[in-house]
Amino acid sequence: MTYSPAVDRYESMTYRRAGRSGLQLPAISLGLWHNFGDTRPAERQRDIVRRAFDLGVTHFDLANNYGPPPGSAETNFGRILAGDLRHHRDELVISSKAGYTMWDGPYGDWGSRKYLISSLDQSLKRLGVDYVDIFYHHRPDPQTPLEETMGALDAIVRSGKALYVGLSNYRSEQTAKAAAILRELGTPLLIHQPSYSILNRWIEHDRLLDTLAEAGAGCIAFSPLQQGLLTDRYLDGIPDDSRIRTSVFLDEKALDAKTMGRLHALNDLAKRRGQSLAQLALAWALRDPRMTSLIIGASSVRQLEDNIGALRNPALSQDELDAIDATVLD
Ligand code: NDP
Repeated sequence: MTYSPAVDRYESMTYRRAGRSGLQLPAISLGLWHNFGDTRPAERQRDIVRRAFDLGVTHFDLANNYGPPPGSAETNFGRILAGDLRHHRDELVISSKAGYTMWDGPYGDWGSRKYLISSLDQSLKRLGVDYVDIFYHHRPDPQTPLEETMGALDAIVRSGKALYVGLSNYRSEQTAKAAAILRELGTPLLIHQPSYSILNRWIEHDRLLDTLAEAGAGCIAFSPLQQGLLTDRYLDGIPDDSRIRTSVFLDEKALDAKTMGRLHALNDLAKRRGQSLAQLALAWALRDPRMTSLIIGASSVRQLEDNIGALRNPALSQDELDAIDATVLD
């Protein structure tokens, strides 16, 4: 059946500005790292993307290597884009990245101009688009001069293949240096993509949000649910279709007794607020207004809906914040 997006799709979503840029992003964005490779049914992928768009999710986050196999998430999303969303390209913010291993040899990894530009060309072909909205350098490269990597991002924007640029997994100090180079080149840093969750607070110790505020850049956190730990997924055991059982990126060892105790305590706190654990975790990660958006993953429409439901009750009291800290900080 032909898909017609929900007419009220912009009514309930909250949009936040990325730093001092002109671009607003939905407070919750959808990431396609998992659940969109060739191992997942095409129908389910399509249902998740369509439902996301119906709920006001305008931002879809990809990378060259997402799959499995690497590249397949871009191809699969490209198919959905060409079908259901073909009349809505201008309503979407599509991002991709290069920085991790993508192809064999010295030109398919890290941060050279050679790798970034050819990888983006491949991503555009797989996605079936002329440009991405945001192109990221996926991780810092200790061997390549920062000037070369930032110069490649600037050249990409000037060539029209990306509208904005971002950095991912850079620490504060490297971010400040990179942002200064980009500013000098005339292509300001739009956004930074770090990991962040109740259980993973490195950006606070690194003062990354302060650095980004100074640079005028936004922040979009990945894995705010700690890959599913901060949900009801593992409270009663390990389901066969869960990430722990289906991916090499999450190990059963993550569920030690201490962590399980914390997850149950957080779940009780969430219940007292009338929320799911996932909703509490997302409300927490969004509590700083400098956090532009969170990129969640979802293996089903139900999970996606649960997560977006966090925006119905986002405010946390100081007592609740203290209780969360007391639960997870030793
Ligand atoms: P999350 O922390 O949101 O974890 C998503 C997983 O948690 C889902 O696949 C699902 O796992 C489970 N889950 C999600 N919602 C619920 C729910 N409501 N109830 C129960 N279980 C739920 O994020 P991801 O780790 O998937 O990362 C999100 C995105 O961030 C990626 O797709 C990617 O775009 C980006 N990213 C960027 C990185 C970078 O280096 N820049 C690195 C990693 C991610 P299950 O399969 O068990 O159902």
